[in-house]
Amino acid sequence: MRKPFFVIVISVCLVLSLGLGLFGCKQAPKEKTFFAMNTLMTVSLYGDSALLDECGRLLASLDRTLSATDPTSEVYRLNHGGTSEDEHVKELLDKSLALSRLTEGAFDPTVYPVVRAWGFTTGDYRIPAQDELTAALSKVGYERIAWKEGSISLPQGVEIDFGGIAKGYAGDLVKRYLLDKGLTSGLLNLGGNVVAIGAKPDGTPYRIAVKDPVGEGYMCILPVVDKSVVTSGLYERYFEKDGVKYGHIVDPSTGYPVDNGFLSVTVVGEDGAKCDALSTALFVMGPQKACEFAKSNALSVVMATEDCLYVSSDLSSSIAWKGEQNKRVVTL
Ligand code: AMP
Ligand code: MG
Repeated sequence: MRKPFFVIVISVCLVLSLGLGLFGCKQAPKEKTFFAMNTLMTVSLYGDSALLDECGRLLASLDRTLSATDPTSEVYRLNHGGTSEDEHVKELLDKSLALSRLTEGAFDPTVYPVVRAWGFTTGDYRIPAQDELTAALSKVGYERIAWKEGSISLPQGVEIDFGGIAKGYAGDLVKRYLLDKGLTSGLLNLGGNVVAIGAKPDGTPYRIAVKDPVGEGYMCILPVVDKSVVTSGLYERYFEKDGVKYGHIVDPSTGYPVDNGFLSVTVVGEDGAKCDALSTALFVMGPQKACEFAKSNALSVVMATEDCLYVSSDLSSSIAWKGEQNKRVVTL
């Protein structure tokens, strides 16, 4: 089910009302909401309001560059046999390939033909026939991209999709721009990918709400200074057929939407693009492997299944769960 617009509005408002309502300072932030990358993006800052419009322009321009479906985008050109010299595309591809290697292909930007076969790129959802899926899977494989420097091109048949990392990267870009302009405090909410720039003006941490993956409202609040909080959730985009839910995160090794018990995975860290790719990758790995990976890579995470909440030890003392948890809380 593609998220109806009002659901997006409500989710974004929820994070904002919690994020901003808990700013807890007298000075009101300046704020503007944009629509880019198929979602609402809100920039709230303590500083010159003229910066807000420039943030909107940056987001719109990045969206035009990275869209896999816009025939005028750099990514579209790459996916259709062309080349690209674009700095953002180069940086993102570089990061994506490093994270594909780190996660042994759980995150893989070349999974696009499979994502498309399920209709997640257009919203015309469908269960592809096995031979169609096999054909789409035969095009998947980040190892095939040998690009190191200079202009990028993709091997025949390979197509990329930065949907699993682009919002995190966009947050990093806007943050970098605002810091260059001397901003010291602000909050970005790019469709649920939240970036805290510095601390609140009174010096206390921003308090970021993580959405409840099944119900309305939030699951927990994380106090954060100068970090991104990125969540991958089954609730974000899915369709249902014969009582089975098919979500938009697919396992590049099978071609099927992941169905491993995870409801949401949140990663906290300084590098928003990395957090974004890792939240997608951990979701693909499933609870057991994701817990091991998070521990061995010292990741800050909050991961939810039907009956368990996994939280990394660094976050466990500061996390505030909403009300009584009827799930088992496991500290990693
Ligand atoms: P996110 O919400 O960040 O977890 O990203 C999900 C989006 O990333 C999907 O809508 C797809 O466009 C894309 N995607 C799905 N599965 C994968 C995967 N295994 N690796 C990389 N990107 C993916
Ligand atoms: Mg992601």
